[in-house]
Amino acid sequence: MQERGCLLPFIVILLVTVILSSGCERFQKEQASSPSVDFFAMNTFVSFSSDQATGSDFREIQTLVADIEKIFSANLKESELYALNHSKSMSVSTECAHILERATKIAEQTDGCFNPCLGNITTLWDVTGNKYVPSDKEIAAAFAYTAFDGYTVSDSVVTKKNKETLLDLGAAIKGYTAERVMALCKEKGITSAMINIGGNVGVLGNAPKKTDGWQIGIRNPFYPDTLAGYVNCKDTVISVSGAYERYFEKDGIRYHHIFDGATGMPAESGLAGTVVIAKDGLVADALSTALFVMGKEKALAFYNDSEFEFEAILFSSDGNVTVTDGLQEKFMLFQGAKFADNQPLVLET
Ligand code: ADP
Ligand code: MG
Repeated sequence: MQERGCLLPFIVILLVTVILSSGCERFQKEQASSPSVDFFAMNTFVSFSSDQATGSDFREIQTLVADIEKIFSANLKESELYALNHSKSMSVSTECAHILERATKIAEQTDGCFNPCLGNITTLWDVTGNKYVPSDKEIAAAFAYTAFDGYTVSDSVVTKKNKETLLDLGAAIKGYTAERVMALCKEKGITSAMINIGGNVGVLGNAPKKTDGWQIGIRNPFYPDTLAGYVNCKDTVISVSGAYERYFEKDGIRYHHIFDGATGMPAESGLAGTVVIAKDGLVADALSTALFVMGKEKALAFYNDSEFEFEAILFSSDGNVTVTDGLQEKFMLFQGAKFADNQPLVLET
């Protein structure tokens, strides 16, 4: 594990560093020079950059993101997921069926900490819309439809156990899309590219003028306008989840957008933020959410036992930072990164 002094301005300006951001608030991209396209999709800001892409590549990438959104958005009225949310059973595209099968598998393996059937709860809370704390009765009513095994898939026909169950793939589809965009780049012969979809970053090859991949800045969950450190990576997807991303405050209590499927309440697991790095973008994204719900101890046990290949950074609410084995040499914590006034973040060894 390595620590570095706070080189923040240097890192941001001179190295090709992307500040992981999510939500629609502050999207920051600190790419030095590459041509890029920025657009809004999947309810967040998207930024793609590559010094090898042409205008038509940029357009194709935008189209690909829009096409995936048209399948999996819970809000777009023309999406397959929207139709499924209004049906008991329906035939879906092969892609939709495949992703729903994979979502079930991740849900099973994480014991429902990633739950694709939480839509009734996420809609009830509507964290970025209503800013309203539902009553216990309302939560119990919504909760009745949120078992994580709330649907089956057979020959591309999805059947829900309850017609009322609402699927929500918001915790997984941005990472999946980042991986798909990188795959499209590869097909086109592009060897260096980066996409950031609301805090889900895909990186391909080496950053411009570099030979050792990319350095991705990791936002400090306690001071979200600053970086906690950065991670070196290549040909992978990095996904973040945090209580600081989308939330509202009422009577001094913060209500955030990551829910515990066991309670229907915002997850309180002792973690302030998680980062997951995996080649498989769906896994990276879904697990960043699942580990957040699990909390540190369960997340580390899951890391040791799980069949999924991933690495993680866990920010505990008490300011400790835990890094999994595969990131020991790849994650740098800035010495000056704070947890609270005059209290530094501490790397656990
Ligand atoms: P973001 O979408 O802000 O990048 P996440 O990847 O952690 O962050 O996904 C959070 C979103 O996923 C929420 O806004 C909600 O729609 C949905 N969600 C919340 N809790 C869960 C959960 N336990 N399992 C699956 N999806 C969830
Ligand atoms: Mg996620």
